[in-house]
Amino acid sequence: MTQVWVLGDGQLGSMLHEAGRRLGIVVSPQSPDDLQALAALADMPPDIITAEREHWPDNVFTRALQAHPAWLNAPAFAVLADRQSQKALLDALQLPTAPWCPVTQDAHVGTLRAALGGEFLLKQRRGAYDGRGQWRSDKASGISLPDWRTEAIAERRIQFSTELSLIGARDAAGNMVFYELTENFHADGILQISVMQPGRYASLQRVAEQYHARLMTHLRYQGVLAIEFFLTPEGLLINEVAPRVHNSGHWMDGGASISQFEMHLRAIAGLPLVTPLQPGCSVMVNIIGEQAHPGCLALPGTQLHWYGKQPRAGRKLGHMNFFHPDREQAVQWLRALPLEAPFEESRRLALSALEG
Ligand code: ATP
Ligand code: MG
Repeated sequence: MTQVWVLGDGQLGSMLHEAGRRLGIVVSPQSPDDLQALAALADMPPDIITAEREHWPDNVFTRALQAHPAWLNAPAFAVLADRQSQKALLDALQLPTAPWCPVTQDAHVGTLRAALGGEFLLKQRRGAYDGRGQWRSDKASGISLPDWRTEAIAERRIQFSTELSLIGARDAAGNMVFYELTENFHADGILQISVMQPGRYASLQRVAEQYHARLMTHLRYQGVLAIEFFLTPEGLLINEVAPRVHNSGHWMDGGASISQFEMHLRAIAGLPLVTPLQPGCSVMVNIIGEQAHPGCLALPGTQLHWYGKQPRAGRKLGHMNFFHPDREQAVQWLRALPLEAPFEESRRLALSALEG
């Protein structure tokens, strides 16, 4: 049986493990801090080494994984894990992205506003997620930037009508498949709700797939990769790229005939890549912080998925999915779901997208 190691042992790693069990592939998520695993890497080397994250501590184990002949996507991680080189690659490939610039020690709010033509965000180059490591000029009281400015890029604040993500996969032979565009709603930089309605963005789908294909082909990428977009009056702008399975694809567990986790394994293990059936309307709601489980399981279209993590403010603890061929049912489910206050704006936006 094919043995796959995953760098990272969070919820995405465990979902890859689950998908592997069904496919007959042994998937072993590895904590990047587990230096004991070095011996196993030498004694029983896996056939394939992949990752569920793009940031990890630099230690003997993570270095050994990256130096291993079974390690996939070295060029992609090298360039995508740093926002600055990621943005530079998007520019080089002529893939439209939010205007940005590097930040020097002597930069000020005023100089960056002038350079970027308006309000901007500082984003840490490495290691940030869920909106952490971000700083917004429209909330600034003076002209000084945070101390970590030279560890960041500056990016123009985009006025978008919505956020979309495209998840796709490529195998070693260059075959590619894509899911339907997913619409995403954030609060304070954290994904709250994702919605997929087949065909809703049919004309943008083609454009998004072209961008995605250009990037994966350039990187000779293997596996699932996600691109986050802003939708603006000028069209799609890439926000960021994640070389891995992605939170905005969790709806696929019930709403697609092949989940992103299975697709990733198919792509890296040389199994057939086919476009999944995605026949109905899907809604995914993240469970964040200490939100209690609403009694949502009473409906046949509902799935609940806890990650087994300790509750902490702002932490993703699980998600709920709702799938139904009838869009009106998805609207009713989302309307009825008891949610905490921070979700209300996302719910309102998601409902207007579903009803629009
Ligand atoms: P995650 O890892 O959860 O995807 P992240 O912390 O890596 O997120 P981003 O995706 O860059 O960070 O930003 C999080 C959210 O903040 C975006 O989805 C968007 O809602 C908002 N945001 C980011 N960049 C901009 C921008 N240039 N203009 C306006 N809003 C932005
Ligand atoms: Mg993001």
